[in-house]
Amino acid sequence: MNKAELMLKLEKERRKLAELISLAESKGEDVPGPDHPDHLAEHASELAHKEYKAGEVASLKYLLKEVEHALAKLETHSDKFGYCEKCGQIIEEERLNAKPWARYCLRCRKNYEGSITRRKK
Ligand SMILES: [Zn+2]
Repeated sequence: MNKAELMLKLEKERRKLAELISLAESKGEDVPGPDHPDHLAEHASELAHKEYKAGEVASLKYLLKEVEHALAKLETHSDKFGYCEKCGQIIEEERLNAKPWARYCLRCRKNYEGSITRRKK
């Protein structure tokens, strides 16, 4: 996959996620419009307090952040794109095809996800 293709894929994913998030949040009350991105983050923590679809919105936002990170990385450090941010190994191509925003190789990701799960439970 070349850079342009990756950008396209990430951009598409970003739009989809933003849409899903605003959809999920519009079911709440007093939602700031998309013109106020700064307030969205604050609102997310409010939502979390209410436990209103908190899990769903939070995971969508997390994913959106990952996608935006990947886009920024592709733009500014495209030479580093596709390398694990933790161990520096090349991220498996299959993994990048499925998840172009992946920051870590499969091994580091598994360790990371493992630590989150352990914290939660
Ligand atoms: Zn790694």
